[in-house]
Amino acid sequence: MLMLLQAAYADYLEVTLLGTGTPRPSIERFGSATLVSAGGQFFLFDVGRGATIRLKQAGITPNQIDKVFLTHLHSDHISGLDDLWITGWMWQRQQLLDVSGPTGTHQLVNGLRDAYAADISYRGANVGLDDDKAKIESVEIEPGVVYQQEGVTIRAFLVEHAPVKPAYGYRVEFGDRVVVISGDTTYSENLVKHAQKADLLIHEITAADPALLKRNKRLNSVVAYHTNPDQMAEVLNKTNPRLAVLNHVLLFAVSEEQVIDKIKMQYSGDVTMGYDLMKIGVGNTIDIQRINLEN
Ligand SMILES: [Zn+2]
Ligand SMILES: [Zn+2]
Repeated sequence: MLMLLQAAYADYLEVTLLGTGTPRPSIERFGSATLVSAGGQFFLFDVGRGATIRLKQAGITPNQIDKVFLTHLHSDHISGLDDLWITGWMWQRQQLLDVSGPTGTHQLVNGLRDAYAADISYRGANVGLDDDKAKIESVEIEPGVVYQQEGVTIRAFLVEHAPVKPAYGYRVEFGDRVVVISGDTTYSENLVKHAQKADLLIHEITAADPALLKRNKRLNSVVAYHTNPDQMAEVLNKTNPRLAVLNHVLLFAVSEEQVIDKIKMQYSGDVTMGYDLMKIGVGNTIDIQRINLEN
């Protein structure tokens, strides 16, 4: 009986990594963007460079996206927002684009409205696109529940990315399934708290060759507000997700294999490097697929 009840509550979530990169221009790793699909709804966490192209490759048109959650306002997490917004409008998005994020999100969205006012008026006049549909709304969130509808609950929690304040991670719950997205953070006790009982933890990673770190002061500052492999292992030992996938891959003269090896020396659970267009199905089992990049 207990088994049946558990089965009834369990559900299925799908996560597609659209961008696993950083500010570095890379054809393999676009800017940060993670799509979560739950109960027929789509939620997009960050909209970095090229997110709309990756959505297309994943078979999703931009008009299907109307809920965006920003972790923080670094450019590599937001620089695809204008494309998603305007292209979605051209693709006949019928509903407004809802952008939730930290303090400063209003300024970002108001600035985009100003920047694209000419474009919106041209397209409206030329091809009869209804500029009323070019609506974009901003919501500045606080830690706690930021979305709760049709069985999906999304919570924002603070992470450590100073001087960027606030910077958020998100916890998405659907039935018994839980996905946690770290955003950019160094080791964060608050993330450890909010990532308990996660099925899937999507966490950022950085690593640098020690000799390089020694002679490059600026690199030390960059690495300091991200999570290194030792810190990652500590997070994983304290949270034990069914699967951890690394994104926002920022490596300096260190290979991806070295990073994974270093974590695995200290943590025995499942952890893997994330790639753009990796699709992770989270149900009774966790299945990883790679979407064909030729689409
Ligand atoms: Zn970033
Ligand atoms: Zn950042």
